[in-house]
Amino acid sequence: MSTSERETTGGIFEQLAERDHEQLVFCYDEITGLKAIIGIHDTTLGPALGGCRMWRYASEADAIRDVLRLSRGMTYKAAAAGLNLGGGKAVIIGDSKTDKSEMLFRSYGRFVQGVGGRYITAEDVGTSVRDMEWVRMETDYVVGISRALGGSGDPSPVTAFGTFQGIRAALKWSTGNDSLHGRTVAIQGLGHVGYHLVKLVTEAGARAVVADIFEDAIQRVIIDFANMVDVVPPAEIHAAACDVFAPCALGAVINDDTIPQLKCQIVCGSANNILADEDKHARALEQKGILYAPDYVVNAGGLINVANELEGYNHERALQQAGGIYDITTQIFQIARTEETTTVQAANALAERRITGAGKLRDRFVSRRPARMMRNMRTDI
Ligand code: NAD
Repeated sequence: MSTSERETTGGIFEQLAERDHEQLVFCYDEITGLKAIIGIHDTTLGPALGGCRMWRYASEADAIRDVLRLSRGMTYKAAAAGLNLGGGKAVIIGDSKTDKSEMLFRSYGRFVQGVGGRYITAEDVGTSVRDMEWVRMETDYVVGISRALGGSGDPSPVTAFGTFQGIRAALKWSTGNDSLHGRTVAIQGLGHVGYHLVKLVTEAGARAVVADIFEDAIQRVIIDFANMVDVVPPAEIHAAACDVFAPCALGAVINDDTIPQLKCQIVCGSANNILADEDKHARALEQKGILYAPDYVVNAGGLINVANELEGYNHERALQQAGGIYDITTQIFQIARTEETTTVQAANALAERRITGAGKLRDRFVSRRPARMMRNMRTDI
């Protein structure tokens, strides 16, 4: 994948063909005002799962571009995580502060139902657990429901746990020892994931250098982890002297400006699209001797958590599966070394090989499909 996506001027089928998308579903409902697009990138491994983003897109072309980009990203995330799920995403064109209603989301749910299980929806930027409960009134193909209703609830603790495993794997790879004891981890953003990551690294014996733009988020961490954290201004967190820099707030924090200032051995965080330019900045980190653990691999705990709902949610099982991120991250470092590529290219290769492998399996004739062949989880991670 490249973050420098080309602007496409061609028609919609040309855009689908350009990055191997399977399907776009346009959903319009005059009564509720729903304008949604469901994007299905690849279903070789299983049904496409991905959140539904509600956003005030400047144009329909922007919404199409976003759903195509996001759904493709989900294919790679699920494949690298060892899930038997494909990549999909949906967008609702609208203002999440003013345009939401029960009927809008129920209408969206009916369209999801109409896709017949090829796409499973969930919450994303601009949508919430409550919205998904409305969606659930109309379709079974929705995850990210509250724990009270038998769902998986807030994915952030599992995301943080997966990121923590990525950090341990990266420490092992670069120092020979995965212990956090005596290490320093700089954490940018103390929100849902960042808070839990501070907890995990400090409990494991590391100091945390932290930053957030909101004082209450900082105070919470100071109160809860008193002697184990140092606070720095948000503009300085990336330049903190540390073993690991963990971006858990924004994308594109590794860029031409920040790379010369980094004083870490490892970049491993939960934020999506950490590298402003995947190819260029992955190479720049490598040249600086900094090990990069690809974001979509180490932040897959959230996806693993919601995917668990498909089998009947079990928090312990979700954590155990997110623990597999340690081995997957190590495997990616090994591929990068053996094939002399960046870790980003290695992660993409791992995902693509798994999809190709599963596709080839289907070419073999079997007389009858075993009932549970398509389990959503690999059990060997
Ligand atoms: P969040 O909104 O709860 O927390 C983000 C925190 O970052 C907030 O406290 C915010 O004040 C802070 N922040 C914003 N700008 C900042 C800056 N310039 N410097 C320092 N802090 C800043 O989000 P979250 O759920 O914790 O997710 C964090 C990142 O991880 C996001 O990029 C998200 O897309 C990604 N992610 C989250 C999950 C999940 O399960 N929540 C799963 C996968 C990926």
